[in-house]
Amino acid sequence: MTVTVARHAGYCFGVRDAVTIALDAATQYDGVYMLGDVVHNEEVVRKLDDVGAQVVKNLDDVQDRPILFRAHGTPVEIWEEAKRRNLRIIDATCPLVTQIHHEVEELESEGRQIIIIGDHGHDEVVGIASHVKAPIVVSKPDEVDGLRKMRKVGVVSQSTQTIENVQAILARLLMKGLDIRFINTICFPTKQNQSEVKDLAVANEVVIIVGSFTSANTKRLAQIAQSLNPRSYQVASHTDLRREWFDGVETVGVTAGASTPDHLIEGVVAALQGMEER
Ligand code: SF4
Repeated sequence: MTVTVARHAGYCFGVRDAVTIALDAATQYDGVYMLGDVVHNEEVVRKLDDVGAQVVKNLDDVQDRPILFRAHGTPVEIWEEAKRRNLRIIDATCPLVTQIHHEVEELESEGRQIIIIGDHGHDEVVGIASHVKAPIVVSKPDEVDGLRKMRKVGVVSQSTQTIENVQAILARLLMKGLDIRFINTICFPTKQNQSEVKDLAVANEVVIIVGSFTSANTKRLAQIAQSLNPRSYQVASHTDLRREWFDGVETVGVTAGASTPDHLIEGVVAALQGMEER
């Protein structure tokens, strides 16, 4: 069985940096608080907890150590409250998320109604929305139908959206707005991962997508793969692999979400190679 791993499978640079910052801060300050999960992967969060990087639900739980703000952004009001309380803030926001915050503010300054293409309630989307006054979040094309007609519209997207979903939503928005300005804020690691999973899905009999079921970008990779190859399966780790998926299979493609650590990918690859040797 030939196992091909996507070139950019796993951690994007934003998540890798955030995890490194959390580990360093936990050592330097003898522990650090993180407001929510630093990445959407339970195992990574557990490991960080073991070294003293502790998840808290709100700022009231923060005591004598710094608070780390995670890769996919923190709402403006929480930044302000943390500063008001004189908390030590460690900013692990991905620069590409910060860039979306700047873009959306600029679009609003042009007098545009802001539309954010993204998942309702997702941390990154909530963070982007906090930078403007009355944004509308649209997660799928049919949500556009209920919108009123608008004169000036500014559109950005959550960094991990699929190009196909963004295109489909934009196509419907053309019926709603007169002057629409769209800034493509899907980040380049997401574009790379989505492009690679499409190639894997057509070039291999089976595709395995490694990542937490709480990770939106992993789920999206799995959906893309499944749309092109029904024998595509998402697994959290090698223990989810099922022998029957690979009966008679000669080619397997492996990729992983942006919050999946390397050792989980390596575990899946090793298990696949082990199957072959049995
Ligand atoms: S998915 Fe993109 S925007 Fe999000 S942390 Fe990674 S590189 Fe940054």
